[in-house]
Amino acid sequence: MHRVNEEAFKQSFSWAAADTEAQGASMELRITSIRARCQVCHSETESDDPVVACGRCGALSFDVVQGSEMILESIEYENTSCAQ
Ligand SMILES: [Zn+2]
Repeated sequence: MHRVNEEAFKQSFSWAAADTEAQGASMELRITSIRARCQVCHSETESDDPVVACGRCGALSFDVVQGSEMILESIEYENTSCAQ
C-alpha cells in the first residue's frame, strides 16, 4: 500500500491548472488515516502510515477496515482575467 502523496497531487494540480482560471488556486486536502484490524487479537490500529505491526500483540496480519483516502475539500481561486 502506498502512502498518498499530497505534495505530488498539488504539483500535478498546479500543472493542470497552469494557464487556466484555476491557476494560483488554493485547495484544502484531507487525508484520512488507515484503519486495520489485527487478525490475531482483533484490536484496531489507526495510522497515517501503512501498519507495520499490531500495537497490542505485535502480529503482522491485518484486515484493512478503511484505506487511506485523499479528500479534496475545496478549491478556491480568484478570477483574475479582468484584473489587469
Ligand atoms: Zn494484535
